[in-house]
Amino acid sequence: MFSFTDPPPGGPTIASAPRRERIAVLGGGMASLTAAFALTETPALRDRYEITVYQDGWLLGGKGASVRNRAMHGRIEEHGLHLWLGYYENAFTLLRKCYEELGRPAGAAMATLREAFLKHSAIVVEEKTPRGWEHWSVSFPQTDEWPGDGRPLPSFAESLRGGVRQVLIYARAFFGELGGPRPEVDDAAAQLRGLLEPALAPGAPLLLGAAARALAEGLRALMARLWTAARPDVELDPGLRRLWVVFNFLGAVLVGALRDGLVGPDADFEALDDIEFCDWLRRHGASEVTLSSGLVRAFYHLAFCDGDGAGAGLALLGMMRMFTCYRGAVFYKMRAGMGETVFSPLYEVLRRRGVRFEFFHRVRGLELSADRRAVERVVIGRQATPRSGEYRPLIDVGGLPCWPEAPLHDQLVEGEALARRAENLASFWSDWPDVEQRILERGAHFDHVLLGISIGALPSIAPELIEASPRWRRMIEHVKTVRTVSLQLWVNQPVGRLGTSARAPVVGAYRMPLETWADMSHLAPVEGWRAGEGVQGILYACGQLGRGDDPVAARDPRVDDLAALERTAVDFLEKDLGHIWPAGRAAPGGGLRWDTLFDPEGRAGAERLRAQYLRVNASPSDRYVLSVPGSQKHRIAPDDTGFEGLVVAGDWTRTGYDLGCIEAATMSGLQAARALGAPVEILGEVRRRRAAPRIELPRYVDRPGEMALRSPYVLEDVWMTALVLRAEQRALRALLDRYLNVPARGHVRYVPAAPFVVLAAAFAGRAFSGDPGHRRIGTMPETDIAFWVPAWALGRGRGGLIPERLVWFLPHVFVSTGAAAAAGREIYGFPKSVVDVEVRRTGYALDRLSVVGEVIARHAPDARGGPGRILEVTRRDAGPIPPRARSIDRLFFDAPGPLGGLAPWLTPISRRLAANEVTLAFLKQFRDVEHTDRACYQAIVEAKAKVRALRGFGPLPGTLRVDWDDHDSHPFSAELGLVPGGQEALAAAWVDFDFVMESGREVFNAARDGSSARLTAP
Ligand SMILES: Cc1cc2nc3c(=O)[nH]c(=O)nc-3n(C[C@H](O)[C@H](O)[C@H](O)COP(=O)(O)OP(=O)(O)OC[C@H]3O[C@@H](n4cnc5c(N)ncnc54)[C@H](O)[C@@H]3O)c2cc1C
Repeated sequence: MFSFTDPPPGGPTIASAPRRERIAVLGGGMASLTAAFALTETPALRDRYEITVYQDGWLLGGKGASVRNRAMHGRIEEHGLHLWLGYYENAFTLLRKCYEELGRPAGAAMATLREAFLKHSAIVVEEKTPRGWEHWSVSFPQTDEWPGDGRPLPSFAESLRGGVRQVLIYARAFFGELGGPRPEVDDAAAQLRGLLEPALAPGAPLLLGAAARALAEGLRALMARLWTAARPDVELDPGLRRLWVVFNFLGAVLVGALRDGLVGPDADFEALDDIEFCDWLRRHGASEVTLSSGLVRAFYHLAFCDGDGAGAGLALLGMMRMFTCYRGAVFYKMRAGMGETVFSPLYEVLRRRGVRFEFFHRVRGLELSADRRAVERVVIGRQATPRSGEYRPLIDVGGLPCWPEAPLHDQLVEGEALARRAENLASFWSDWPDVEQRILERGAHFDHVLLGISIGALPSIAPELIEASPRWRRMIEHVKTVRTVSLQLWVNQPVGRLGTSARAPVVGAYRMPLETWADMSHLAPVEGWRAGEGVQGILYACGQLGRGDDPVAARDPRVDDLAALERTAVDFLEKDLGHIWPAGRAAPGGGLRWDTLFDPEGRAGAERLRAQYLRVNASPSDRYVLSVPGSQKHRIAPDDTGFEGLVVAGDWTRTGYDLGCIEAATMSGLQAARALGAPVEILGEVRRRRAAPRIELPRYVDRPGEMALRSPYVLEDVWMTALVLRAEQRALRALLDRYLNVPARGHVRYVPAAPFVVLAAAFAGRAFSGDPGHRRIGTMPETDIAFWVPAWALGRGRGGLIPERLVWFLPHVFVSTGAAAAAGREIYGFPKSVVDVEVRRTGYALDRLSVVGEVIARHAPDARGGPGRILEVTRRDAGPIPPRARSIDRLFFDAPGPLGGLAPWLTPISRRLAANEVTLAFLKQFRDVEHTDRACYQAIVEAKAKVRALRGFGPLPGTLRVDWDDHDSHPFSAELGLVPGGQEALAAAWVDFDFVMESGREVFNAARDGSSARLTAP
């Protein structure tokens, strides 16, 4: 065993030079290399960081790696078929910068990014019907644009408009195909146009709130009617069925996105984490025909999640990006392998920038400090010894620096032995003994660890972390990975038509486990095949093997897996390939003509498969990372690992865009670099929730009798009265500025939503914690009396700040119990004080309410506070008992008497109440004990209140007047812009219901978010 005692080579040599921060990057996949790239982009950053990448074996690229097989004409052998999507703005931007810095001379092979990629739009989806497998050809419009010039992605609202446009296009095609005259269908078509077209008109308001909901409900109802009317035709006519599928799929996505409010920059996709994508589509109007279609199955196959499913939020986000955010083309094929297109340029540029690469360094373990708070040591097994001190991994193939299929043995001391054993040092199960154990110590050899090894390998290399942290344990339990398979065929004839298309299509949703196929014949010239040499076409296939729950094998399963894959491939080629590649068939309806496979050794029959390339990706870190329902919230974020000195990067981390793809890995790498202090720009970054359960926070010590009960906080059997009082907007604006906008220093902005406030008095029969741990404590009756100020939280829109969500701010809250005050103040930041309340009611009608509490009439050093009247509500006249309201959004409108011109403001607010959308905003803060004019914690918090049961509601009879004394301790008139001393309610209503205060979220935290991007000037 060897342990470093001296600083590693390359440490500071000039005594006065400041020491650079040393970052040990573990693993060299897309995410790690992106982080290294961002951390070394400028000379200043290169002066600041010293980076070493530790990679086992001889290859960079991980799941995206590819090699050139020197024994097979230097052909490309991929980990699996890789396509880039046209919305990969971060990955393309990174690569464009990399190619620019690489500075290949004009005329050199793949000198620029644009020479390295090929636009691709032809897709064929396979569908199993009662008639057998059928092709479905789809072509996406192409433009001259390219991704990767650093332009932002379209906003969610623009994407959504794109979605509306597509629904209309497919609806038109569907109606056209359906034929007429059919009054019920024509009528539905007209209604659909009337519903959707206004949303596309220039200057049409954003699809938010009530407008969004009305559109969603209208579209949902129309789809249901259309399905009833058109179903018999749809089931008989395949062309019509496909049009229905696309229309219905897009329609359901639109309905769901509108209903779930997924339109603003704060769209909460994570809220859909627990629901499976198909279930979500079904809930929003997708028919079973649509859900079982090739279109939907193709998505599942693209993400290798057939059988495991995908969380609806992430699936939706991925699809929205894929179809509405692409530039130029929906797909891009590389003009060579991933290895030489992506990873050798990155390696070359990073090396030039001074990043050190330690190949043949297998990370064996991460060890924690004694207090289990920091990563203290990284244990590494060195697998081989470069003769010259540094291993140079690339070979030249046709002028391109490429990765070889095996280590360059002549550069290694152990090369001969490795070659003799044909040892695969990249295999998890390799039993090649380490030639040395290296232990990297925190402080001596690194300051930060950037863990870029994929999640499948973490149980074996990071058991201490998993054991020490419940969050890590939950991530390992919930985030699933799956094995994949790959097959590449070189053929003796042009591929020609694949599926229905001769445009070298990608064919998806075919028979598993070889479900995705692509004509990759454009690679033949790069591989150096010349006319007459035999190879005239290249086909790739790729698929998922097994399920996400399959355990990692204890012993190397690849030999068995490979034998099984060979058998599967033979069966597939004999029985199934003919359907998608008829030109390769021995006879119509027959299997593959084996001699179409290129074999320099001239073998016969299925033996020719030996000259092709098959692989099973079963090593734990190579397993594809799934986004199964309920897993996103358990991922660990690059900047929030819970361990000092550790950031993580990879498509398994929690970035907000948590999908298994190159773009997600890139975004994660960028977030990791940002966590280490590099200034990075991330395009289309999805606002992610803080890691849901932050278990690493110190445990709150419960004290009996204190009653600061955990949320959710349930109030049952609640009778509530609400009185609308006209108020001055100027005063309300000042109030929101003082308590929310100013403390948030421009990071959030709230403005009054109406010139009124609501005085609400709620009397709950039972209030209790809904948390299982605290439910057993018991219940309390509770009374809450508060002024509710409606406000818009603004967000960024195309032309500036726009209203995003309605919130209620409660500047004064009076409660009857200490329990209510404790939980309210400590959890959410309600400014609650305990008071005496007297109430008289007749049935649901309020007769009188009086609130008495501690007041100080006039602030002065010798002023004496004591009990005094805070406010009083009296019914001035009995009035007739009004009828119950027709619906909750008519609550105030059905009250007798004029509304004093408030109707335009009340309408959108009432609609949100009716939709059970009640969000409260708070200033939550605690005084610092040493500097008591300072807050040691200050945050703007939002939390939702949701109605669980609604038993009744209606207008309150009579004229109700509210009076108060405007004590200095309770300056209601000045703060809320009310008439001094009191005023009459313009409308009043009662509600009988149960509701729950959910856990909240910090929208701004002074300690954490103070320096991040602002919405407005502070
Ligand atoms: C078959 C297949 C097809 C795919 N197709 C596409 C596609 O078409 N488009 C797309 O966008 N995405 C595709 N993906 C997903 C994409 O490849 C990944 O999202 C991406 O490569 C993940 O990068 P990463 O850096 O997160 O992880 P990885 O690529 O897994 O990187 C992990 C790194 O750690 C190294 N490592 C592992 N263990 C150790 C150890 N003990 N010591 C040292 N180093 C170690 C690995 O060798 C690797 O370099 C595909 C994935 C698969 C499996």
